[in-house]
Amino acid sequence: MTKSVFILGPCAAETEEQVMATAKAIKRLTVDDAQCTVDDIIFRAGIWKPRTSPNTFQGIGTEGLYWLQRVQAEIGLDCATEVVNTEQLQAVADAHIPYIWIGARTSANPIAVQEISDALCALTERNKHVFKGVFIKNPVNEDVALWIGNIERLEQCGLPIAAIHRGCNHHPCWKMAYELHQQRPDIPILLDPSHMSGDSNRVPELCAKGAELGYNGYMVEVHIQPKEAWSDAQQQIEPNAVKRLTMHDAQCTMHATELLWQRAMMDETDDALWSILKQRMDISQQIGVWKKAHGVDIVQPERYQDILQRRLTWAAAHNIRPEAVRQIMDAIHTESVRIQS
Ligand code: PEP
Ligand code: MN
Repeated sequence: MTKSVFILGPCAAETEEQVMATAKAIKRLTVDDAQCTVDDIIFRAGIWKPRTSPNTFQGIGTEGLYWLQRVQAEIGLDCATEVVNTEQLQAVADAHIPYIWIGARTSANPIAVQEISDALCALTERNKHVFKGVFIKNPVNEDVALWIGNIERLEQCGLPIAAIHRGCNHHPCWKMAYELHQQRPDIPILLDPSHMSGDSNRVPELCAKGAELGYNGYMVEVHIQPKEAWSDAQQQIEPNAVKRLTMHDAQCTMHATELLWQRAMMDETDDALWSILKQRMDISQQIGVWKKAHGVDIVQPERYQDILQRRLTWAAAHNIRPEAVRQIMDAIHTESVRIQS
């Protein structure tokens, strides 16, 4: 996997018609759009879906592998699917699907990954050509050490490997990908803006960010009728929307400057900071309601001094100037008083 990889297709294989129509429309992109060639695109579709609730669509099962075989034979796109255990791996190998990925939930379980890796090595030893490559998503929790551990487990088999950065809880967690790249610059990293945001409206901006940071490829959920999708409907995009994405054709290494990475991490930290500030303001408003109901003054100088003192003690241990703490706390407190008034 030395050049950019575009893994496009629905979250899940639902019906034979949906799979074939989506694959056809994706194939058409390679004709319409000079930035993609057939070799660049792998068609994705989940066959077994590890879902949060048992009351949702769990995937079509092995029947869907036949549809992927049709995509390969009739449309000419290589396919990829997720495997969560060794039985699924065997079924995918038997169907001659050349790419697999380890999903975020499986990636959180090193024993499952080790079992898949052992079976993958055995299959590859018996038949060198059964698989062309393996993709490994980051675990659902922000754990770069486990992500790297899983890469080490799977690279034992000698197949081409790439990581997929899909974020955590609908946040990018750029730091995790940055650290993976620092520790393993030899591993290509693909961006999955669909699971990273859970929102089709955010896919373009995340792809552009990925292009800026020099990601080695993308996995994007594409569905012929996104609104009708049986899973992840809110994050899938139409095939034609792929043309509007900035998916830069990176060379084999991430080229971004240190400054761009640090800025991506800083912007994400600011998002978290402001979201916490908003939470604080909401709590403050509730306290204001209580104060009004009980006839208590809004400004309580003793309470404010107590809060400030605690922050000053903490800041002293973290090399932050007391003056900076006072200014920031004063600004927060002033807004809090306004909200309660
Ligand atoms: C998927 O790609 O459809 C999927 C289930 O993703 P993740 O493992 O990242 O949640
Ligand atoms: Mn999905």
